[in-house]
Amino acid sequence: MLTIEELKARVSKSKVGASGGSFLKVEKNKPQTVYVLDGCYQPDELFYKFIATHFLNKKRILCGAHEEGKTCYICEQITVQREELAKIQNDYEEIKRNSDDDEVEKIREQIKSTEVTLDKLEAQRKYAFNVLVKGEETARIYEAPWLAFKPIHDTFRSAIEEWGVNILDPSASTAFTVTRTGDDFQSTKYSVAPAPRPTAILEDKAKIEELLKKLPDLDDKYKLPELADQVAAWNTYNGTTPPPIKGDNGSANKPSSMSRIGGKAVTQTVIPKEEALTPPTLGEEHAEQETSRKPESVTKVASLLARLKETNKK
Ligand SMILES: [Zn+2]
Repeated sequence: MLTIEELKARVSKSKVGASGGSFLKVEKNKPQTVYVLDGCYQPDELFYKFIATHFLNKKRILCGAHEEGKTCYICEQITVQREELAKIQNDYEEIKRNSDDDEVEKIREQIKSTEVTLDKLEAQRKYAFNVLVKGEETARIYEAPWLAFKPIHDTFRSAIEEWGVNILDPSASTAFTVTRTGDDFQSTKYSVAPAPRPTAILEDKAKIEELLKKLPDLDDKYKLPELADQVAAWNTYNGTTPPPIKGDNGSANKPSSMSRIGGKAVTQTVIPKEEALTPPTLGEEHAEQETSRKPESVTKVASLLARLKETNKK
């Protein structure tokens, strides 16, 4: 058994719990060299999981909208909000013609900022897999954006197809160096360089076995939330009560229940599994970089607009 002093020394060196526990974060201009670990558990799966995550004020909530037969309450609410906003936009265009008040400019800005907020609420798509950072002995999960994932996936695939080689073989694994550059969401780029020669992920075979036994279970980690959890997360984000919809009488949840008729989502696009490899169009990294803030709610814009309509009548 280790003495307390020895334990203390090890604890201080331990990277678990440092930045986000066992997740790998690739920071700007700090290249990370990793071995990709094969952590598939389900039949037909490869080493990664395609995931989509909503960030509600930094709170993560997984989105299942891309999975067949699954719906996502958050996605549905975003759709409802977008529809409401489109209506407001119409009213606004009309009012704009008969008014050049400061208020009009204010509404225009609010419509715009509401749009931006809704864009940020959309699920961000990533590819999650287990990695061993060179120099470490325990696995981490890397949630790679498409730009970092694609070259790794392509290398893996062509090695299998062209040479019949599995580059994830822990005794002869290809290390990848991932470098992130750029300052913001628009300019963020990833470059991924495979090592020229495969090597064992760790020198000690027993340690490799130990490591593989303790791989994070991705199925468990990325279990989709229950509907109740999704609703709770959305309500918390919006300040505990569901957002009332313009002109309603307590029927705020109507659109979402409608959209679940027959267990099928009608308000969102379901991305079939094989299309999961197409690059995401929305929000790669921005939730990590931007401070999330409360949305300019659709209701707020609507009430401004209503007030303006009233003043115009007078
Ligand atoms: Zn969703």
